[in-house]
Amino acid sequence: MQLSSLLQRFNEPETLKMAKLGREMRAKGIDVIDLSLGEPDFDTPQHIKEAAKKAIDENWSHYPPVAGYMDLRQTICDKLQRDNTLIYTPENIIVSTGAKQSIANVILALLNAGDEVVIPTPYWVTYSALAQMACSKVVFIHTTADTGYKVTAAALERALTHHTKLFIFSSPCNPTGAVYTKEELKILVDVFKKYPDVYILSDEIYEYINFTGNPHYSIAQFEALKERVIVVNGLSKGFAMTGWRLGYMAAPLPLAKACEKIQGQFTSGANTIAQRAAIAALQQSFVPTKTMVSAFAQRRAKVSAWLQQMPELIGAIPDGAFYIFPYIKKYLGKKYNEETMHNATDLCMYILNEAKVSTVTGSAFGNADCMRISFANSMENVEEGLNRIKHALSKLH
Ligand code: PLP
Repeated sequence: MQLSSLLQRFNEPETLKMAKLGREMRAKGIDVIDLSLGEPDFDTPQHIKEAAKKAIDENWSHYPPVAGYMDLRQTICDKLQRDNTLIYTPENIIVSTGAKQSIANVILALLNAGDEVVIPTPYWVTYSALAQMACSKVVFIHTTADTGYKVTAAALERALTHHTKLFIFSSPCNPTGAVYTKEELKILVDVFKKYPDVYILSDEIYEYINFTGNPHYSIAQFEALKERVIVVNGLSKGFAMTGWRLGYMAAPLPLAKACEKIQGQFTSGANTIAQRAAIAALQQSFVPTKTMVSAFAQRRAKVSAWLQQMPELIGAIPDGAFYIFPYIKKYLGKKYNEETMHNATDLCMYILNEAKVSTVTGSAFGNADCMRISFANSMENVEEGLNRIKHALSKLH
């Protein structure tokens, strides 16, 4: 079959691949612990589910406006003002089928073939896959544990050119858990000021999963950049609503309009029931989110203690999100029986087959010397999974 050339420009996400392999093994009755998960292991809070049930009973069953219900878009503006001191009007807000669609909208609305997109590594793989689909040129900024996996002014300056159209990053970051402070963002803002044609997509989906004790800071809060920043956020992580598929963006008006036009041809408005539920999520009790985040904080402490016992795994303790991203370089080239660990993918497959724990290879995030271990699983499973990984690693020679 002659399929389109577009398919050759990107791969199936490794994150989904590993979860799928783990699921297949579990279906065969094998006890696999899933530490590859990119979603909270919690149920959606009850009051949000009640709002959805009510929406079904009230027959919110017709096509919604492409950009989202006006009262939801107003609620999102209220949230952005309350949590981030950002002032937007509903015209700036486009509600989508997950933050993933918001990012796709922005990329399709902004980029032409050959435009440069700058993405720091490690990155969430969808950024580069979508940019490649749009035939743009992806320029990576490699960050390491030395800078806390954050971009420095010098590295940004080196990467930006007069062909750069878009810079995409997440804070808190998937997979490293890095969280930019206001001061660190300010340093980047000063560089962006020299490149007035560059837009910045700020993916803030892990906003609430922040262990720093400081409020989340958005790069859109710098007035000098506000007209060039697109804030992307959603309900998936902070409200345990991954399957509801509800995300949104706040963008400068012309871009919001362009994204509405694109979304109008792809999917139209996001699911009506999820939109009504999102109003309850963003307006009502944050207690379930706080309870969930404090459970993540306890597991983070466990994972951090484990990392400290394993100095050969150089791993930063995450400030946000629910992953660690340790270096596994010391294990590369080692063997188990006759099987050599050539790269992170081999090591993750070995851990899956030998320890029965699924993780994700760092190459899925643009760093083949690392692996991602998620702690979005029960404390018991996290503990058991880490013990199994440690034991499997000790068998390599
Ligand atoms: N951005 C990042 C950094 C993510 O890790 C994810 C999901 O894993 C998303 C966006 C997508 O979120 P959504 O479920 O709203 O599409």
